[in-house]
Amino acid sequence: MKAPAKSSGSSSPAVSTPAPSVAADPGRKPGERQGLELFSLLAEHEHEQVSAYYDPSTGYRGLIAIHSTVLGPALGGTRFWSYPSDEAALIDCLRLARGMTYKAAVAGLNLGGGKSVIIGDNRTTRREALFRAHGRHIESLKGRYITAEDVGTSTSDMEYIKAETNHVTGLIGTSGDPSPVTAYGVYRGMKACARYRYGSDGLAGKSVALQGCGSVGYHLAKLLFAEGAEITCTDIDPQRVKRVVEECGAMAVASDAIYDVRANIFAPCALGAVIDDATVPRLPVEIVAGAANNQLAEDRHGDLLERRGITYAPDYVINGGGLINVNAELHGWAPERARSKAGEIYDTLLRVFEIAREEGMPSYQAADRLAEQRIAAIAKVRRNFV
Ligand code: NAD
Repeated sequence: MKAPAKSSGSSSPAVSTPAPSVAADPGRKPGERQGLELFSLLAEHEHEQVSAYYDPSTGYRGLIAIHSTVLGPALGGTRFWSYPSDEAALIDCLRLARGMTYKAAVAGLNLGGGKSVIIGDNRTTRREALFRAHGRHIESLKGRYITAEDVGTSTSDMEYIKAETNHVTGLIGTSGDPSPVTAYGVYRGMKACARYRYGSDGLAGKSVALQGCGSVGYHLAKLLFAEGAEITCTDIDPQRVKRVVEECGAMAVASDAIYDVRANIFAPCALGAVIDDATVPRLPVEIVAGAANNQLAEDRHGDLLERRGITYAPDYVINGGGLINVNAELHGWAPERARSKAGEIYDTLLRVFEIAREEGMPSYQAADRLAEQRIAAIAKVRRNFV
């Protein structure tokens, strides 16, 4: 999964990331590690820029990773987490930023990929000065990076950031809960899977095993029920299961039993890494299509699904509605426009399956290919003088 490095002709403060590795340092033996190998990591993950800032007055320690700005400003949330080391924080930040580039690219948005982390205990009550320090850090990048909420942060933290920079989204009273848009995108993605698999995108009479009846799972269940799909659901929270059973005529099963439910579609809408060595052989389904992030425990589980003849909707393609909602806030889109854009996930997934068939590769790789094609095409257009 590699995005093109920014053109070296750029006037941006980007670190250019050509292929030769920094490990080729003549003073170092091959494979020898020398503390935190920052530029090797940037080269390995093909990032444009990483910024680190320490504020002694608040104890703020923050990193901002900008993976790519080829399509637009790098957008990605702020994660506030107690990492075991600075290196672990940096690697997480780089990995997440890169994922955002691909997600924005396949969603057809004019956004690049970035991410930031604040290292520390996210339960702290001394938040204002800390998040304002982060806001100043973001402001120093002059719009190359835009932040939003992520693990360990809330909308009120975004308000503190806003006091120092305009490059923040997901504020109180703006785009609001993204889950209805995400659920709609997942629903459209499921229909594309059905079209690809059965030749028709109708979901009436199709059976869906729904894992997770939270914000997205609930809205998805409503859409599926309205179309006449049969739902079997699970959640560790009985109240959430009850709501889907009562309002959508679903049947409930115990948490672990969801992997054995014979259905057309398995919809993971709870946790990541649920597609693993233990679950792939169990799933008696034809399609895996759901909202959860990072569904594949490892990439090779995408190959295993393929080998079992299961159609997999790559997670970052089908759950792009959340990012589309954030983009809507940035550009002042009406809710209908965000919903319509999320609906385009249908065509995107069909294109992913087409690439997978043409190139003889699993769908998770085809999604990366689609993202890379768009980034490369736009990079070429922008290199022209006019
Ligand atoms: P949520 O917290 O509202 O819902 C998750 C649900 O999963 C909860 O009801 C929880 O009780 C349940 N759950 C947890 N562990 C479980 C288990 N072992 N078995 C069954 N159920 C379990 O979260 P959400 O906003 O609905 O998001 C669901 C998933 O989709 C997450 O992975 C999230 O990262 C991803 N996602 C969400 C959005 C969005 O717009 N909310 C966008 C993109 C991706």
